[in-house]
Amino acid sequence: MTRVLRSRAELRAALADAPRPLGLVPTMGWLHEGHRSLFKRARAQNPSVVASIFVNPRQFNVAADFTKYPRNEARDVSICAAEGVDIVWAPPVDEVYVPGFDTTVTVGAISRPLEGAARPGHFDGVATVVAILFGLVGAERAYFGQKDAQQVMVIRRMARDLALPTEVIACPTVREPDGLALSSRNVHLAPAERAAAPVLHRALLEASGLWRSGERSGEVLRQTMRSVLAAEPLAVPEYVSVADALTLAELDRIDASALLSLAVRFGSTRLIDNELLEAPG
Ligand code: AMP
Repeated sequence: MTRVLRSRAELRAALADAPRPLGLVPTMGWLHEGHRSLFKRARAQNPSVVASIFVNPRQFNVAADFTKYPRNEARDVSICAAEGVDIVWAPPVDEVYVPGFDTTVTVGAISRPLEGAARPGHFDGVATVVAILFGLVGAERAYFGQKDAQQVMVIRRMARDLALPTEVIACPTVREPDGLALSSRNVHLAPAERAAAPVLHRALLEASGLWRSGERSGEVLRQTMRSVLAAEPLAVPEYVSVADALTLAELDRIDASALLSLAVRFGSTRLIDNELLEAPG
């Protein structure tokens, strides 16, 4: 039976009897197959699974993006139930941020390029809410999608630096058959934009294919992704990156593992995607 809880007190009471270990899956709702894959992984590895559904106002650097973020709690709860989630914590804002709340968790260098540069304050909002969730739930494990690769790196850094006992587990990106990474934001794409959106994945595939055949110039791979994107008139690139997979520093030469990533606008909808190039050994 899936229980839907609102307050910290209800959550605390439910967690007191939950068999351990416990897996946490933080989400902002409008659940899709990407979220389902995280629930499945958590379910397989833990006797108790908690999903949070909370559209976190602090991680939106553009207010309109927060207000238009899609929401459908009834549907989300039925997806959680179908995946065997034990507890859905869907709190109002003041159960997450207590009165007088005045703390921000800022992660250093890893949070500054890419999404951090494009969305000032975004990762402060993410790190702060995840620190609160980790504190409230006290899970042994928490599951995040590789789709938001930099987010996983930021949260790992935070958990290590603050000695939080929750292990951070990254799960593979789930895609539509045409390669588009599932995202709650895909719902905002107009039909022509939706048809154009797989260009992100095509750009990543073209660049990763070159890397597999031996190309090691970061600039050649960036240029490859840019030219794939340029062939799609509805795609407006925001950034294209070939970065060190540990530091996210932009690379001239790729001598170790690297992260290909990109952010592209289609009208007012902003999509991101990435691919990890794992150096052998
Ligand atoms: P969100 O609800 O968008 O904040 O996402 C909640 C979690 O689901 C995050 O850890 C995301 O990285 C993950 N996620 C979102 N989309 C996907 C996807 N297509 N594949 C795998 N994980 C995803």
